[in-house]
Amino acid sequence: MVDLLSVEEALARVLAHFTSLPSEEIALSSALGRVLARFITAPADIPPFDNSAVDGFAVSAADTATSSDSAPTRLPVVMDIPAGATPSRPLRPGEAARIMTGAPMPEGANAAVMVEHTLTAWQPTDNALDSVLIVRPVKAGDNVRQRGEDVRAGQTVLEAGTRLRAAEIGLLASVGCARPAVVRQPRVAILSTGDELVEVGDPLAPGKIHDSNRYALAALVATYGGIPLLIPTARDTLDDVRMRFRQALEQQPDLILSSAGVSVGAYDVVRTVIEEMGAVDFWRINMRPGKPLAFGQIGGVPFFGLPGNPVSAMVTFEVFVRPALLRLAHLPDPNRTVQAELADDLTSDGRRSYLRVRLTRQENRWRAHLTGNQSSGVLTSMVKADGLLIVPENITQVQAGTILPVRLLKDLPE
Ligand code: AMP
Ligand code: MG
Repeated sequence: MVDLLSVEEALARVLAHFTSLPSEEIALSSALGRVLARFITAPADIPPFDNSAVDGFAVSAADTATSSDSAPTRLPVVMDIPAGATPSRPLRPGEAARIMTGAPMPEGANAAVMVEHTLTAWQPTDNALDSVLIVRPVKAGDNVRQRGEDVRAGQTVLEAGTRLRAAEIGLLASVGCARPAVVRQPRVAILSTGDELVEVGDPLAPGKIHDSNRYALAALVATYGGIPLLIPTARDTLDDVRMRFRQALEQQPDLILSSAGVSVGAYDVVRTVIEEMGAVDFWRINMRPGKPLAFGQIGGVPFFGLPGNPVSAMVTFEVFVRPALLRLAHLPDPNRTVQAELADDLTSDGRRSYLRVRLTRQENRWRAHLTGNQSSGVLTSMVKADGLLIVPENITQVQAGTILPVRLLKDLPE
């Protein structure tokens, strides 16, 4: 009898084969969710020039010192500075320039008075404005955005390994980075095997079921930053399985996932083919669900042979494939768990078990409720699950009220 591998031992063996993929340059417009491969510095100050934070009048602050509603200061308006323009000349003391938000401050001005603090009404179509009445004083620097106040030239604005969300993408655009270098996304070939499998959308003949694993696995791959490559389902014959694995290799994947056909059934031919085409270990892992998991390489590409049962395939993906995929993609593995109080008594078989649970909030504690039939083929209880309750090894009875970890599959309910 082969020794059972613990989940941790198996995961450590898996992860030893993965490092992050090389980088590629991509258009900023398609960079959402990607991971920066190199740090980014700003080539110039942001903002690149002192500019007005308001629509109003650029002035020398000293000229407004006594301005009030009862004693407004009248200043001649000597030029107009719309956004995108440059001032036609420096401002002298005792003068004002009409200025719009974002327009460069003229030399000689050190503050802007917002239009709401003047008695001048203008229409956007007005050209010349003779003078302005200012009713509030401003201090030097008021309503001016200083050159470089956001970012200094040469400053590192984003570190390598940063995941690009909306704010990071906006910042990249503002420093002029049109094609950031990001970590290449893992290409993952997905192959189902089994004579009973029928493509979704095709009618079911007697004895057949729809191939759900390829879709669930493709969705998991995409969820964790990979590009799923769907290979047509293989029949349970040596020739067909060989052909489909060759097809998978032609896609130049970074990882190959197959499901089913690796147990000890009479038609489990996947095993024979992967031993021909690569080097694969069959691990008996001390966990449930998750029958033998195959891991190794095929044609030099890392390979996982996942169990056929839909829930087993998803759970082994969560536990073993997800960390590998995240490492390829250079994404952190949040591995989010919460401690939850068990709502029901349960029995376990002494292997580490991952049970589908729904979480509810009671006072400030989480309670975990089994989502129903825990058979490894039952996807509806996976759909209802907020997470996987982890029952440790060597435990066969767990009483309601026991606190156990739950690995989250979703964002937590409120
Ligand atoms: P196997 O590992 O081939 O013995 O398959 C175990 C169980 O998983 C069987 O009930 C299969 O019908 C089922 N199964 C295998 N592959 C898939 C798949 N791609 N989609 C849904 N069920 C599957
Ligand atoms: Mg089969």
